[in-house]
Amino acid sequence: MFKTIEADVLKKTVPESLKREFAQHDFERLKPFCLLIYIASISIWLVFDLIVSFPGGQGFTGLSMLFLTLLTINTITLAFTRDGRHFQWINLVFVLVITLGTRLLIEGLPIDLHPSWLILAASSILYSASVLPLKHWSFITAMVITWVLLNPFYLTHTSLLEFKGTMVFFYAAFLTFLTLYSFLKLRQAKLYNFIMAKLLLDQAYLDTLTEIPNRRAFMTSAGKKLSQQPKAHDHYLAMIDIDNFKKVNDVYGHDIGDEVLKRVAQDIKAVMVDFDYARLGGEEFGIYLAGVRKSDVEQLATLLCRRVREEPTQHPVTISIGLARVEDGETLNQALIKADQALYISKHEGKDRFTFHAP
Ligand code: GH3
Ligand code: MG
Ligand code: MG
Repeated sequence: MFKTIEADVLKKTVPESLKREFAQHDFERLKPFCLLIYIASISIWLVFDLIVSFPGGQGFTGLSMLFLTLLTINTITLAFTRDGRHFQWINLVFVLVITLGTRLLIEGLPIDLHPSWLILAASSILYSASVLPLKHWSFITAMVITWVLLNPFYLTHTSLLEFKGTMVFFYAAFLTFLTLYSFLKLRQAKLYNFIMAKLLLDQAYLDTLTEIPNRRAFMTSAGKKLSQQPKAHDHYLAMIDIDNFKKVNDVYGHDIGDEVLKRVAQDIKAVMVDFDYARLGGEEFGIYLAGVRKSDVEQLATLLCRRVREEPTQHPVTISIGLARVEDGETLNQALIKADQALYISKHEGKDRFTFHAP
């Protein structure tokens, strides 16, 4: 089953909105990792800077302090960044500063060591960038910045035509290809995993017939609202049952019964747009009304009963509603039982009405 759905997902082109949602989600998940990479990069740069400054006899200059400050500001900015799109730019600034700082650091080494250390530095930066939540354009720009500033042929007395230069060139080409390829493959695999997870989750939490949330979704979302303490306003739970629904099935057939179910679900969705609603099973629906007054609940219940009753259709139905105020310390199941008892009274007193549970 997993493979069938996966093959289906892989065949389709991914809409831009989904790509954007994935990029933001990925950034949020990986932000602590990005911060870790930044802090590790600054630390290792500082260690090498100190080695070059003291045992290397170059001295710790104001320039080192400047780079350190810029990299730290960059990391702090990242810590306060919430939008994945802003990270693309923050990362480019970080790459720019650290490659420049590294280039100047390597300038302090004996000249024959330059090409190999430039390649080492470039590979560290490219590898790190390839695992960050970057967009294609941002990764490729980071790659260009890296090779421009850490170009192993610039000011290193290394020629492409000599033995050392040829080796450096082919290794740089291999590194570019390897990091670019792993970046692209990793991004694609993560995007498809995200789409799969979202698809399966949607299916697990959505009622297939009515396309509104199902009981599982309701228990999760309403349970979450119920556990919010302290409650600013009252919370109410509504149980809805279609009246004489068996008759609809018997007279018009099951398919029309299904259409009626879908229609009632759409009415509930339209009236209760601000609340958590779901098809709990069969022809029963639940609504969790958080932060409302009793008068609001009365108004909404009246509106919903009227909307269903007056729907211009060949197969009109009515609904009965049971309402219960969710008391402090009550569980969702306890509230559902109370709403069900109130629903029973609505049915008993003639249907097409709502009743509040009387303690
Ligand atoms: P009441 O007014 O007392 O609620 O009477 P009722 O006839 O609606 O009785 P009840 O609530 O027990 O009826 C439930 C019926 O809903 C029985 C079942 O055949 C029908 N039903 C449950 N799920 C579906 C469904 O997915 N599609 C269709 N067409 N019918 C369903
Ligand atoms: Mg029923
Ligand atoms: Mg019924």
